Amino acid sequence: MKKIIVILFIGISISSFSQDNIKYSETIIVSDLEKHLIILASDSLEGRETGKPGQKMAADYIMNHFKNIGIPPYIKKSYYQKFKVKSGRHLCKCDDCDQNLVKKIFGNKNKIKGENVLGYIEGTDLKDELIIVTAHYDHLGKHDSLIFNGADDDASGTVAAIEIAEAFMIAKKEGQGPRRSLLVMAVSGEEKGLLGSKYYTDHPIYPLENTVANLNIDMIGRIGDFKDNPNYVYLIGADRLSQELHNISEQINKEYIGLELDYTFNEEDDPNRYYYRSDHYNFAKNNIPVIFYFNGIHEDYHKVTDTVEKIDFDKIQKITRLIFLTAWELANRDERIKLNKKEN
Ligand SMILES: [Zn+2]
Repeated sequence: MKKIIVILFIGISISSFSQDNIKYSETIIVSDLEKHLIILASDSLEGRETGKPGQKMAADYIMNHFKNIGIPPYIKKSYYQKFKVKSGRHLCKCDDCDQNLVKKIFGNKNKIKGENVLGYIEGTDLKDELIIVTAHYDHLGKHDSLIFNGADDDASGTVAAIEIAEAFMIAKKEGQGPRRSLLVMAVSGEEKGLLGSKYYTDHPIYPLENTVANLNIDMIGRIGDFKDNPNYVYLIGADRLSQELHNISEQINKEYIGLELDYTFNEEDDPNRYYYRSDHYNFAKNNIPVIFYFNGIHEDYHKVTDTVEKIDFDKIQKITRLIFLTAWELANRDERIKLNKKEN
């Protein structure tokens, strides 16, 4: 009985005004996701290795998309947050990484130049608070004429993020812009040690204490090793800093989407430690609640066979709509989500 009351209470606490959130979520469609992903994961971008021409081409592509959908540059003339930092430690998500490849990517100890691409959408009455959606657009590059296209890792997350930006801009043009501000940020340097997200949290464009949450998307276009149907996504981190964030995410999914939300990798003692292995961690360590959306690793992970024709675009569409609706709720509810009370 107690349980039922709790669920009812959560149901009531979802505050999205009207049903417009659904209308805008439905602007996120397979054909758009596919159009962008085919370009980002094409051979001409040579695997988007941070610091290489292919990564710069990807950055330009994302910037042009932001421009086309009407997002102004975030500081005067630029959409880019440029950084020049030392390569970090490769945070491979699997145990049996190809060490030769890792050496090739990290053999060079020089400083690496990358850029984050920022799509900033100003809020209305609560604009001093910010929701951040991230996905890394860099990948492993081209080595000995082998191109690592990174269609799932993480062109899939990148196209999700830029389509979420577009859905919010369509809403904004119809007078339904978000109350809180929204930053959709395509980050680079992830494969070289979460460099772009670390640079951002070290040099935020917005005070971190006003940053309400980070939704990070890294690999959502494939079926992972332990699954046999596409109707799921692993969620990691949601309840660690804010139970309220977890509850909202659950409620949105139940009400509108109906994916299986799998928390296997969210266990504190999970040996994979994914919580520490993608860009959301740089936000979490600054006490900003995060959700990491992830399909799990698969046979083509970090291989030249992570290519476009294996991508399940219906799966990307469904997960992207879930993330959009979650961001919409976070941006529009009256109260910003609360942090858990610290134990001890
Ligand atoms: Zn990735």
